[in-house]
Amino acid sequence: MFIKTNYHTHCTFCDGKNSAEEVALRGAELGLAVLGFSSHTAWPFGTKWHLQPREYGTYLAEISRLKEKYAGTMEILIGFEGEYMRGFSLPDKSVYEEFKPDYLIGSVHYIFSENLKGAAVPPYFTVDGSAEELLGGIKSHFGGDAKKAVQTYFAFERDMVQSCDFDIIGHADLIRKKNGELRFFDENDEWYRRELEETARAIARSGKVTEINTGGMSRAGLPTPYPSPYFLSLLKKYDVPLTLNSDSHEVRTLTDFFDVGMKAARDAGYDELWYLSEGSWKSQKIPL
Ligand SMILES: [Zn+2]
Ligand SMILES: [Zn+2]
Repeated sequence: MFIKTNYHTHCTFCDGKNSAEEVALRGAELGLAVLGFSSHTAWPFGTKWHLQPREYGTYLAEISRLKEKYAGTMEILIGFEGEYMRGFSLPDKSVYEEFKPDYLIGSVHYIFSENLKGAAVPPYFTVDGSAEELLGGIKSHFGGDAKKAVQTYFAFERDMVQSCDFDIIGHADLIRKKNGELRFFDENDEWYRRELEETARAIARSGKVTEINTGGMSRAGLPTPYPSPYFLSLLKKYDVPLTLNSDSHEVRTLTDFFDVGMKAARDAGYDELWYLSEGSWKSQKIPL
């Protein structure tokens, strides 16, 4: 029997729509064996969509309560989706040590130009926010050069996987999120494929697990999960282990498109997925 798990879950402690209690109830209904909560964090900071620094204690207490409540039925884990923002916040276990999370997801949502001088521009912009923010950021930080922005995204990700100690790489090509709508780069271009290849190699060297993230399908209408089919084939080439996550922000989408995610892994040549349980990673065959 396939053991269903999800480690990338948001609730009202950050920008999710349902309470942790509601999410846990839905997880149990869906027959999840392991449910990990991963509120957005940028410790010791937090924007409006992150877990607020003063709320960490409440978050840990509430997820711990649910862990006990569901003990024997569903394993509940306490995690964070830690922000990679060099100079501000890193998804590194030493940063989150005092909270003793069961695991940590590392994600790049923000990019910036290191050459940027000038106080009139916000220091960072998100690659998965509004089209306006993304296009504005490419213009103000990279002089309108989308290729430079995309290359910066992957350079940040490689730096994150190589220099930070965490467990799961979040949505490894999130930069694609707005590309269906905006077409600001061509995923078939040679330079883009080289970025993916270099990133797949860095991920493999790091020994970290990469997630197949179906959240872009539920939330942004993407036709495929992150990473793209081509990126997945490169990850397979370098033997990178995969886990399956929904990046769910509401109970309705807790295991959305998991069948598509499994098929994407199989199509890339994978025959197993990894899951974290009782403190260690284990693998299982992907059902046909
Ligand atoms: Zn994310
Ligand atoms: Zn997330």
